[in-house]
Amino acid sequence: MLSVANYWVLTLGKTEAQLRFSKVYPMGHCYRIGNGPQTQAYCMTTTLDILDKLIRFDTVSSNSNLALASYVEGFLEARGFTVHRITDPGGEKTGLYAEKGPAGDGVLLSAHTDVVPVAGQSWTKDPFHLTRDGDRLYGRGTTDMKGFVASLMALADRASAADLREPLKIALSYDEEVGCVGLQQMLDRLAPMLGQPRACFVGEPTEMQVAIGHKGKAALRAVCHGSSGHSALAPRFTNALHLATDFITELRRLQALYAREGAQDTAYSVPYTSFHVGKMSGGTALNIVPDRAELTFEYRHLAADQGKEILSQIQSAAARVGASYQSQCPEARVEVEQYNAYPGLDVAQSHAVVSYAQKLARSNSTTKVAFGTEAGFFSELGIPTVVCGPGSMESQGHKPDEYLELSQLKACDAMMDRLLEDISR
Ligand SMILES: [Zn+2]
Repeated sequence: MLSVANYWVLTLGKTEAQLRFSKVYPMGHCYRIGNGPQTQAYCMTTTLDILDKLIRFDTVSSNSNLALASYVEGFLEARGFTVHRITDPGGEKTGLYAEKGPAGDGVLLSAHTDVVPVAGQSWTKDPFHLTRDGDRLYGRGTTDMKGFVASLMALADRASAADLREPLKIALSYDEEVGCVGLQQMLDRLAPMLGQPRACFVGEPTEMQVAIGHKGKAALRAVCHGSSGHSALAPRFTNALHLATDFITELRRLQALYAREGAQDTAYSVPYTSFHVGKMSGGTALNIVPDRAELTFEYRHLAADQGKEILSQIQSAAARVGASYQSQCPEARVEVEQYNAYPGLDVAQSHAVVSYAQKLARSNSTTKVAFGTEAGFFSELGIPTVVCGPGSMESQGHKPDEYLELSQLKACDAMMDRLLEDISR
């Protein structure tokens, strides 16, 4: 009997520094030939073939993802999936929604197709070629999150021959790495196609643990207006930087309030909703009182603290600061704009989707993650959603020489196997 371990030694355990899997193996050789280890070995070949192809598409968020999307679309259509493109307003990028099986609720797998940039990072390997070194698979996106995409495509390959009793649904987005922008653009068209799946897995890297929560985040800009003049007469004018610092003081008051009285969740290293100012600019010369200053800031909130409520508190604080200067400067004001946001995720431990995900992932515990995902958007649509995927965001995601452990990919394939068994007749 050819064990999985032996299979690797015999076929993939070569000593070449760079092993390009697609040159070694043709696509689509994944057959269910029994319940023994051979099944997994064959499937792993397919997953690696696909991952090799996916890594070659340079889908850094600033680039088009159309070439990758065409590949995935063709792959899924050839396996009997109905595939819809949901393109971005500029037509440079597209999301995909694919479905196979009878009409119904089914199970949804979700991923993003873009990756973070490699510029400015010191890579010792080609980020856009899959390179195997020992038990590690190197390449941009192996962990975040093309490994999961490869595994779900390999599942689609197996599903093509299966008799599904409920639908398998797949949603792939773009521009996730720039603040979940793509999925937000897709949602109006995507939501009616999705229906109400009974479970959704967002395959961001959790080391195959079932993650049931993360914070939401909003990014905001504040423009402070005052009045300008010669600095020799500074007290007669309204310095916009003073409005900016007063506004920062208000944000710090809000921070203290949320730390003291807001929701608390000790699963997070910062267990409450947090505020942060990342950038402040204003003024042009020392001898001119500046009439404009700008701040960029964010809040990261527990799902229990409503984003809308926080935004309205911020807007009230801005109005207070503006009002305090208006007697000396009628045009004094602070304008706040929230330019991006994604919701938090908070699934009750007792929800059926949690035990279902644990069963499929063979995991007894649950976790909460520090990073944001698209999961909150699905959850807001009433779709029970968890985050579970191969690789570690903490040690591998977004880093130079990003890699994925083979064992993680294997564990993900095994989860997909159990999912397929569950949704098949
Ligand atoms: Zn990601």
